[in-house]
Amino acid sequence: MAEHFCKFCGAPIRWARTPAGRMIPLEDSSDQAKGTFALRVVDLPDGTAKRMAVGLTRHERIEADADGELLFQAHRATCGEERTGTAIPPEIREKANLVIARYQRSSR
Ligand SMILES: [Zn+2]
Repeated sequence: MAEHFCKFCGAPIRWARTPAGRMIPLEDSSDQAKGTFALRVVDLPDGTAKRMAVGLTRHERIEADADGELLFQAHRATCGEERTGTAIPPEIREKANLVIARYQRSSR
């Protein structure tokens, strides 16, 4: 069971920090075909090590996949896509979409 859900589309996500210190939402399930991030333990300058979302090049992705490493897609790549098993009820999603649409109109 995922602990976090996207506030826009309700999909299960996992938050991860990048080596640059940014938090990014990743898809909760791995995707070997489309994933561009691997969760790797990165050594930090202060001597500690943390599991982080490391963005991979195409070549690195092929190698990681061959090694059996799980790859994850950034959630923003799939956010808003229709899915089966919606996490939020449709009437709430509809209301959220209205609020977003109103905001987009007023910010133009
Ligand atoms: Zn989303």
